[in-house]
Amino acid sequence: MRTKGLVFALLVAALAPAHLMAQGNEDKPFPPHKVIGNIYFVGTDTHSSFLVTTPAGYILIDSTYESNVPWIRDSVEKLGFKFTDIKILLTSHAHVDHCEGDAMVKEMTGATVMIMDRDVPATQAIRPEGKPHPIDRILHHLDRVTLGGVALTAHLTPGHTEGNTTWTLKATEGDKSYDVVIPGSISPNGMTPVVNNKAYPYIAEDSLFMYKYLRILPCDVMLGSHTPFYHMQEKYAKLGKGPNPFISGQQGCLADIDGWEQAFRKRLAEDQKKASAPATQ
Ligand SMILES: [Zn+2]
Repeated sequence: MRTKGLVFALLVAALAPAHLMAQGNEDKPFPPHKVIGNIYFVGTDTHSSFLVTTPAGYILIDSTYESNVPWIRDSVEKLGFKFTDIKILLTSHAHVDHCEGDAMVKEMTGATVMIMDRDVPATQAIRPEGKPHPIDRILHHLDRVTLGGVALTAHLTPGHTEGNTTWTLKATEGDKSYDVVIPGSISPNGMTPVVNNKAYPYIAEDSLFMYKYLRILPCDVMLGSHTPFYHMQEKYAKLGKGPNPFISGQQGCLADIDGWEQAFRKRLAEDQKKASAPATQ
């Protein structure tokens, strides 16, 4: 268990700066692959981007950095799909490393861009080269996004950002249906303080709510907006060598949530300690 805690702590440290640095893109391309049913991974080694296919076109979750968009397009096409058939663009949360490429994807595909209500102001502030951020539909908690008979539900799971969004959908493989959960960001919020945060005073309460909320969602497959959130690379290495490695069952989902909640609580304790320490000269 200690090792697991350490792994999560290291991941938190590794993920921290990316959220705040628009020019900090150190991503590398990663082989696109089928995750389960009609859900495909088209992201990079560290940032997830998921393509959900339907007979009426495709849904993309997370454009990531603008400079990743050509890689995402190549990944979509390597899988045999047309990038221009993307009809809807969704977002995990309003950080540059997840939605900076929205304007470019919109320009290339004409997709409808949908953003969770509480993330609208932060999303509008992400304007690569001054381009206005496209927002075509504002989503609210439990709104459904449908295309070609496929439905995704948007869950407001605030904390990492005010409008951090968890997406759920069903995927079918063989004759079985699986509950797929794609949390926005499940980690503590990078370098943003979780105590005495004037811009987001209830950040700690929201984050703790998120971990509780995620536990009530039926879950067979848990993914995430950063690949380490769901140990993507480890699982990818097992693809085709046995049962689908992305199916972890409810217990697997809960174990991941536990790990990230522990990392958050550790971070909260550190920030509380800092906040209560006497000021030094
Ligand atoms: Zn983030």
